[in-house]
Amino acid sequence: MESTKTSVPLHIVIVGSGIAGLATAFCLGRAGHQVTVLERSPHLDDIGAGIQISPNMSRLLFRWGIGDALMKVAVKPEILTFCQYSTGQELGSSLLGDNMAIDHGAPYLHVHLLLTLARPYMKLEIGARVVSVDPFRPSVTLSSNKVIEADLLIGADGTYSIVRDIICPNSMPQATGDGAYRAIIPVKMLKDDPELNSLVDPPQCHCWIGPSCHIVSYCISGGNDYNIVMVVPEDESFLSWTAEGDPERVKAHFAKWESRVQKLLGLITSVLQTRITVSPPLPIWIHQGNRVALVGDACHSLLPYRAQAAAMAIEDAAVLGNLFSRLQSKSQIPWLLEGYQAIRKPRTTSTMADSWLNRKIFHLPDGPEQISRDAQWKNRMGRSQQEGTDHTNQWGISF
Ligand SMILES: Cc1cc2nc3c(=O)[nH]c(=O)nc-3n(C[C@H](O)[C@H](O)[C@H](O)COP(=O)(O)OP(=O)(O)OC[C@H]3O[C@@H](n4cnc5c(N)ncnc54)[C@H](O)[C@@H]3O)c2cc1C
Repeated sequence: MESTKTSVPLHIVIVGSGIAGLATAFCLGRAGHQVTVLERSPHLDDIGAGIQISPNMSRLLFRWGIGDALMKVAVKPEILTFCQYSTGQELGSSLLGDNMAIDHGAPYLHVHLLLTLARPYMKLEIGARVVSVDPFRPSVTLSSNKVIEADLLIGADGTYSIVRDIICPNSMPQATGDGAYRAIIPVKMLKDDPELNSLVDPPQCHCWIGPSCHIVSYCISGGNDYNIVMVVPEDESFLSWTAEGDPERVKAHFAKWESRVQKLLGLITSVLQTRITVSPPLPIWIHQGNRVALVGDACHSLLPYRAQAAAMAIEDAAVLGNLFSRLQSKSQIPWLLEGYQAIRKPRTTSTMADSWLNRKIFHLPDGPEQISRDAQWKNRMGRSQQEGTDHTNQWGISF
């Protein structure tokens, strides 16, 4: 695929320069197309505080040639551990580290910065907010009134996509009932306490699960910082995407959680809070005129409970780039778009369902279902460690 180039270069306009937009720009640019990326923000920000990169994603990033750069800023956790919220008792663990590389051909990584990869393959216009889309011409109009025409438009404009509106009107994201707090602590603050030090040495991903809440934590920034994501039932304070949260409010949510959680919360001086919203699966990802399509969160916003949303965006880009590297005539565009949707939609729909299942599994109230979950989890994890297999299972818990 890497060496395949189209004989019919298109002008492709991508709206949005998040993970999906940049990855798609890289894949389509490398496939021989002329790519323009329009980003409303006046500057390109780093992506999040640090995301988990699963092997299906890192395999592609390695293949694209940024594996070495990634390894310099990434932390490779040795183990993924699940704990009961109030006692801290280990429910189960999965070996990661090199085992993931063996199982999946790519390690499981946490990174802070990502994707400057696309720059050589695109013309990037920042401060370029798209305010309307003509799907038949096709073209976009910016807030400056400038109109930009294209052969193909790609909406990579995230959960609140304006491009999605012209393909699937009335598909705005809905509240899930959950909100997330995020905090970063310097790892050196954990080192003096043996209990906390065990969370970072060796590097690991820790997940505490409890009624309606869970906490996921792991090292980022080459092991210098500790990223903590705390999911709680949302309340009226969850109004915007990047608002400052109140650390005291966070502590109240987790007052009954075990001592390591209390110690971590005691180290937190500021938090960001995010309302977690998702769109239901869309019926279609392509406009009927066959000149506009969607990638990333614009077409599949996932609950962040399976660490797969960015990975799905990267996979979208890889498939789209692969298909359009084979374009030999403009008449093939509808077929290639159809193929893209046929390959990607079932996969992302099932990943969306898996994320919801994780929410159910993680957030069970104390009671018979939780007791059954814990027993199945221990049984399953115990068996897999004995057998030396199964480093990635999605828990194998049935309801
Ligand atoms: C708390 C949390 C933790 C997460 N952890 C993980 C993880 O561990 N692993 C993982 O794989 N994923 C994770 N994700 C999800 C991941 O961050 C997203 O799926 C991914 O960043 C989505 O990328 P995107 O490019 O589709 O959308 P976005 O990142 O939303 O990018 C859209 C871009 O489009 C631009 N834009 C929007 N509208 C316009 C317009 N009208 N004109 C021009 N530009 C526009 C925006 O400014 C933005 O730059 C997490 C998400 C959250 C909230």
